[in-house]
Amino acid sequence: MRPAQATIDLKALCLNYQLASSLSGSKAIAVIKADAYGHGAVECARALEKETKVFAVAFLEEALELREAGILNPILLLEGFFEECELAQIDQYNLWPVIHSHWQISAIEKAKLLKPLTIFLKMDSGMHRVGFFPEDIPVAYYQLLATKKIANTTLMTHFARADELEIDYTKKQYSAFQEVANKLNLETCVCNSPALLAWPEIKSHWVRPGIMLYGASPFEHPQHSTNQLQPVMTLQSKIISVRTLPQGESIGYGGLYTTNKPSRIGVVAMGYADGYPRHAPNDTPIMVAGEKTRLIGRVSMDMLTVDLTDLPQAGLGSDVELWGKNILASDVALLAQTIPYQLFCNIKRVPRRFT
Ligand code: PLP
Repeated sequence: MRPAQATIDLKALCLNYQLASSLSGSKAIAVIKADAYGHGAVECARALEKETKVFAVAFLEEALELREAGILNPILLLEGFFEECELAQIDQYNLWPVIHSHWQISAIEKAKLLKPLTIFLKMDSGMHRVGFFPEDIPVAYYQLLATKKIANTTLMTHFARADELEIDYTKKQYSAFQEVANKLNLETCVCNSPALLAWPEIKSHWVRPGIMLYGASPFEHPQHSTNQLQPVMTLQSKIISVRTLPQGESIGYGGLYTTNKPSRIGVVAMGYADGYPRHAPNDTPIMVAGEKTRLIGRVSMDMLTVDLTDLPQAGLGSDVELWGKNILASDVALLAQTIPYQLFCNIKRVPRRFT
């Protein structure tokens, strides 16, 4: 079998969830959309179903996958619904839609439901994607109540820049949000991972941690607040070929790296089709046989190359960690000019092993 795989540490996932819960002191909704950020939604849900009351996914099909696997917790649909006909399944399967547009209120009004819905009413406090502006929230709320099909409403918003610690955009969003929440006296749901980690003064009844559950930092640069997070995914493989090259030889597509001395090169079964970023530059750290070394040359679809010149103990069959407990995914992401969210979501071809 090809040795590339992603090991998912479900104990670490639970510990990260417990940390999110205790940091916030609120009810923490475990965000497991996009196949739990590439970690396997069903397995992560099974590991967390006793820890969390509620899960969040993006849309109906993601929720149905969890229901088919026997997950019974309420599931928040962060994107709400796209067509009226989805309301029948939302009702049947105890899903909690986010309501962000007037047409959704009209759809609820017309729908024949078995029981009243629990909904999260979304305010646009500054993200400017979806949601009602603060001044429009009361009307939307009273329209929803008038349908007589709502059992429970939580007011929510989403932060656009909570990972930027040096600006007060998050505080401004929160104060616009809180003003309306106070008037309507509703339960609230606000923080994502960066808000939870960086803005302890921001409080709400519910929080929605995502990336921190998977043990990765939402911040571009290291922050003290993320030290307790435990990486959940280890992306690993093995050395499948070793060659010795003289000085002045270029390696791989585009000759991105040229040896500056006689060098030992290891080839790793891992490429961009596995989700390792093609834009990772020379010198991106990689662990081989328990020692840190570096990527050299361009990442190909199924393989990449590492420098073994100073690692005489490494050879054919040596273990390789691309990211995990020793090499942080957020460090690799920064070098490859992306974010750990995207690195994780791109892990699709590699088989997952759960521990
Ligand atoms: N809430 C909403 C509405 C989201 O879209 C997301 C993720 O994109 C989250 C919460 C979780 O965010 P994070 O992964 O930064 O914790």
